Amino acid sequence: MKRSEVDIKKLSPMMVQYMEIKEQYKEEILFYRVGDFYELFFEDGELASRELELTLTGKNAGLEERVPMCGVPFHSVKPYVEKLVNKGYKVAICEQLEDAKDNKKMVKRGVTQVISKGTVVDLELLNEHDNHFIASIEDFTYIYTICYADISTGSIYVSILPHQKEKLISTLLNLGILEVVLKNKEDYNLIATLKGSYGIEVSICEEELEGKYTAIYDSLEEEHYIHAIKHLLYYLVVKELKDLSHMKPAEVIIPDDYLMMDVHTVRNLELIETLRLKERTYSLIWLLDKTKTSMGSRKLKYWLMNPLKNKEKIIERYNKIEKLNSEFILKDTLRNSLYQIYDIERLCGKITCGTLNGRDLLQLKISLKELPTIKEIMEQLHFKETIKTHENIYNLLEQAIYENPPVTIKEGYLIKDGYNKELDELKSIRSGGKEFIASFEAKLKEETGIKNLKVGFNKVFGYYIEITKGQLGNVPETLHWERRQTLTGCERYISPELKEKEAMILNAEEKIIDMEYKLFCEIKETIKKELLELKDTANQIALLDAITSLAVVAEEYHFVRPELNETHFIDIKNGRHPVIEKVSNFEYVKNDCVMDSSINTLLITGPNMSGKSTFMRQLAIIVILAQMGSFVPADKANLPIIDKIFTRIGASDDLVSGESTFMVEMKEAKNAICNATEDSLILFDELGRGTATYDGMSLAESILEYVSKNIRCKTLFSTHYHEITKLEHKIPSIKNIHVSAVEENGTLTFLHKMKNGAVDKSYGIHVAKLAGLPEEVIKKAEEILKEHENEKAKEPKKEKQIQFTMDLEDKPKDDMKEKIKKIDPLHMTPMDALNFVYELKEEIKNR
Ligand code: ADP
Ligand code: MG
Repeated sequence: MKRSEVDIKKLSPMMVQYMEIKEQYKEEILFYRVGDFYELFFEDGELASRELELTLTGKNAGLEERVPMCGVPFHSVKPYVEKLVNKGYKVAICEQLEDAKDNKKMVKRGVTQVISKGTVVDLELLNEHDNHFIASIEDFTYIYTICYADISTGSIYVSILPHQKEKLISTLLNLGILEVVLKNKEDYNLIATLKGSYGIEVSICEEELEGKYTAIYDSLEEEHYIHAIKHLLYYLVVKELKDLSHMKPAEVIIPDDYLMMDVHTVRNLELIETLRLKERTYSLIWLLDKTKTSMGSRKLKYWLMNPLKNKEKIIERYNKIEKLNSEFILKDTLRNSLYQIYDIERLCGKITCGTLNGRDLLQLKISLKELPTIKEIMEQLHFKETIKTHENIYNLLEQAIYENPPVTIKEGYLIKDGYNKELDELKSIRSGGKEFIASFEAKLKEETGIKNLKVGFNKVFGYYIEITKGQLGNVPETLHWERRQTLTGCERYISPELKEKEAMILNAEEKIIDMEYKLFCEIKETIKKELLELKDTANQIALLDAITSLAVVAEEYHFVRPELNETHFIDIKNGRHPVIEKVSNFEYVKNDCVMDSSINTLLITGPNMSGKSTFMRQLAIIVILAQMGSFVPADKANLPIIDKIFTRIGASDDLVSGESTFMVEMKEAKNAICNATEDSLILFDELGRGTATYDGMSLAESILEYVSKNIRCKTLFSTHYHEITKLEHKIPSIKNIHVSAVEENGTLTFLHKMKNGAVDKSYGIHVAKLAGLPEEVIKKAEEILKEHENEKAKEPKKEKQIQFTMDLEDKPKDDMKEKIKKIDPLHMTPMDALNFVYELKEEIKNR
């Protein structure tokens, strides 16, 4: 049965109310609170039953047929909502807005929150290391504006981007944006890419919010920024009913202030996740993150993703690292203090738009307790920043909140004794009642002479006097007891006196719960007034934690403080790739990287697996670390300040968009060539590998020449086309280097050491041998290679297709030939090669 087909006039009053509310939340899945359940009706019910594996039942709604329905208990609604939101649905939660017991008529209901992918605030649903951003984007045909906010932390940013769709998408991906709000559906392409390729939710909303939360943009003048912010605010406030009183004023991000890296670079360098497994473990941030708070962890990631270009700001971070490492006792004390601190930022978010409970306030209190110590350490370290200590809030929480509060706030047991007089009085009635029962029991025993008489309480029948069957005759008529319950061995009674007392005690219990809830809300309001200051403090803590983490890393992994120059000069002594160094079982071979102002390109040759890609990544990582304000993995480093990094490393097919390696390669090359400046760094790893030999070689050569002559930025270019190395003689700013390997009795040992000059051999066949390909295959390959080398000597210009001829006479063996043809031994892992050999062997055996 469809909602749209229903005759409203026939519906029960509650369902009429449902229909009215649902009319306003058509796009969302409406969770409709009915007593202890949330119920979902019609299409929502069917969808939820499918997606959440709930049983679909029916509700009697006044129609002939029952309305499709499924339901979840209110106390376990969270995982269901989470699941739907993760699948990209929006959920609207409709609550009962008045107490059912106070009201005999139908209770008022209304939607209290709308949850979508980008606006989750519950701590349990958030990853502590990541921000949870929602963005609004507007296309002005000559620029894009983007405004993005993390409601859980209360931060909001706004920026103007050049009108390049790739750049826009790259920015969204780098920020990890989960949901995007567009003004209209005009740009189908963009919507399809965001949704289809990257799983980013897209919502449409045209309006802008006027006259509310103006403090977020008051200090800004640029109209584009203000419109972008108002647009996002409208969506959050009107569509999603969010309370944004905890939002900080918007921060303007000028992309030009930061080292620019596109999404490929971030991926290729494995800054925040590894290429293969897409995991944080073994990424650069994994290595760098020694923070003690979630806020610090997020800040550090932000630094890594946004390295600076301003020398003073970078040096300020170096100075702090140096200071921290010279004061190791202070550093330790500081880290111990930081360890006690909870996610203040997100607790602040929960205070305004989440379900805050007593435990959250307790976490806040524990965190605030550390602030005086931290403030003092900051002073001792002579840091110019300082923090507020928020004693008033700390004291309030210390006086008010029980040390072990329950999870829900409507159970009582939240507020400490002595905090509120009225509450204390109610509590004494409650416990006095218990005392009364004890003395009442004693009194009755004496009056009646019944020794085993008991006074007790049970949830259904309330208070009772219990008399065993044998003693029934001894109950005096004069006491006017009423029978309450008959059990096998005894009777239970109630007396007028007990009844009166019962009412008082039960009443007190209820009043205590109401009172505690009221006090809790008051405390929340008090904190709310100081929210922005609290958030400032949280930010300072995050900065402090992040810089301390860099100091710890610098010390633990023997990083050095880099020097920065303005002369395009790179001089790295004994540089390392920090992650490989840490993870590899072998001793890491350190390498220098020197490019004075006359050299802008290093052309790297060397066998496969010798360490070319690692060397290139190492340089980029050192540059990024230096500009994020970190020390670097080397014995010495002198570096220019880089404005943009472009990379083309490894064969990462863009699986999502279905483009071939070669197309992706060429697009990335184009991106680099069109956007790089003299201050940029380009890494081209085996460019042109994705196409036929001569094509690839010619392209590689011409791109290299173009970059060297026209852009003149620092470039690392690795290649397996030895022919290109002759460019060194033609263009003086290109220098050949190679990675050495020693060949002994036909086996190859990689030294991973960079040397001057070019190699003239690719050793591909050696690698294949190392990988354990069958002797037969290797031998044949060697023969073919010889043939080719002879032919090439004769006619070097002509493209030649490699013919793989083996002695495979009959048909079934042909597919084996096909198989061997298809593999690319140079780019197989040893494991894959081994599996391949195994497969071949099995096949031969089976014939
Ligand atoms: P190439 O790009 O030349 O094929 P890679 O850079 O991918 O080679 O390196 C292959 C492997 O060799 C790496 O995974 C790493 O384990 C190891 N390696 C590379 N460089 C070094 C080094 N400097 N010291 C130690 N091991 C290294
Ligand atoms: Mg490589």
